[in-house]
Amino acid sequence: MSDPIGELARFAADEGLELREPETTGDFPSDPSIDYGRVVRRVPRAVARPRDQAQLVALVRRLGEGDLPWVVRGAGHSSGGQSLVEGGVVVDLGGLARIVDDDPAGETVTCEAGAFWLALVEQLRPQGRRPRALTANLRSSVGGTLAVGGFGDASHLDGLQIDHVRRLVLVTPDGVRRELGPADPLFRYTLAGRGQLGVMTEVTLATVTRPMVLAARQLRWGSLGEYLRDAAVIATYGLYDFLRARIALPGGGISAWVGRSQEDLAPEPGLALLRPSFVSPQERLDLHELLTRPPTEAWRKACPALEIVLPLPEGVTAWQTLAPLIADAGIPERQPLGHAVMVVRGDRRLPLAPLPGGTSSLMIALRPEMASGEVAAFLPPLEAIGQRAIALGARIYLMSIELGGLATQLGVEHARWRALKAEVDPKGLLAPGLLTR
Ligand SMILES: Cc1cc2nc3c(=O)[nH]c(=O)nc-3n(C[C@H](O)[C@H](O)[C@H](O)COP(=O)(O)OP(=O)(O)OC[C@H]3O[C@@H](n4cnc5c(N)ncnc54)[C@H](O)[C@@H]3O)c2cc1C
Repeated sequence: MSDPIGELARFAADEGLELREPETTGDFPSDPSIDYGRVVRRVPRAVARPRDQAQLVALVRRLGEGDLPWVVRGAGHSSGGQSLVEGGVVVDLGGLARIVDDDPAGETVTCEAGAFWLALVEQLRPQGRRPRALTANLRSSVGGTLAVGGFGDASHLDGLQIDHVRRLVLVTPDGVRRELGPADPLFRYTLAGRGQLGVMTEVTLATVTRPMVLAARQLRWGSLGEYLRDAAVIATYGLYDFLRARIALPGGGISAWVGRSQEDLAPEPGLALLRPSFVSPQERLDLHELLTRPPTEAWRKACPALEIVLPLPEGVTAWQTLAPLIADAGIPERQPLGHAVMVVRGDRRLPLAPLPGGTSSLMIALRPEMASGEVAAFLPPLEAIGQRAIALGARIYLMSIELGGLATQLGVEHARWRALKAEVDPKGLLAPGLLTR
């Protein structure tokens, strides 16, 4: 009788590869059967942690010769079991976290994809630089966020993190290491492609020379419509390079921080173009201090996240349908600080980007926090809200609870993505299921 794990263990011993049995303690992030969301549990048979790119290539080639399903895990911060696999092998990218090259003159940095964004920030900050786009979670891996998209405080001007990838090394499931550029279909369908086509191993990202200390102020609006009008003005004229907003339900009021990477906001003639109901005095905001704060108690809770991206302007009407459903489901009580809202430049350069809008999209993050035992009660209403959103033209951010419906969301791109998957992973062993549901 075949013993695939025994064979893999012999291969690992020959290669000096770290291969361990999963420790299913229930502790995040060390337990490879759970992720940040704690919504699904899938118990793998082994966890492999390559220490360098050569070992990764050898491992992937070996996995491709066998029949075990496998999945890549960065920091495990998704909510729907994206980095989990039942009865297979979790490939932990934590050992591939080096900064490979830094080119200040060319404004790029190259790193291995298991690196956390935090490492890039610490590398670049002493030079007055930073990655062009950052999310609110620097303890996620570069590969893990590029596999879904990467929304951030500068997305109204700079789009998603995936827009700033200049070069990509992908190890496809046949064990081939491919150097890819933006014109390559594998490049285009890997970014925001949820780890379906291979392992992102090394990436070159655009950087920007911009301090991480901002002059900022708080603004408030009474409704989403009023906010969107001003967000469009802010984006069009580039009034602020920092925009972080939250919507409070059921009332629908919006509160935002706006700022610029400079000592003083004055002169600030653009403020006169906006119509907020409240304007705070100017404050100094240390983005580095904000983003590097240690994880809060909330990180211990379950989080069945559902992040909905609507096309603009038609998404405003869709939101009027969705907001009461969200309020009725008791989501706002589980996210008392409000739901992050972002207006994102949405030019669809990358086919799988979670951006349904032609020129602009609206992302609303439902991230309710709760005890693990409560998830079962919240899941059906969240799934219903997600399905309704898809029917209304939304794309669901792929780190969310899994809903299916990808063919509806992606149209013809879904078929192209599936065809590429069939080429590079004919046995369908890598992160199985997503494209067949
Ligand atoms: C507290 C918190 C705050 C957050 N804030 C934001 C935010 O502001 N903006 C935002 O956009 N998102 C945010 N997120 C979501 C987060 O960016 C995503 O969940 C992201 O996927 C996390 O990266 P990870 O390394 O944990 O990925 P994982 O969960 O480990 O993996 C995610 C997916 O990527 C695949 N993958 C991982 N590494 C690779 C690789 N090297 N090659 C190919 N596929 C790979 C996995 O197989 C999986 O499908 C937040 C999450 C949390 C928990």
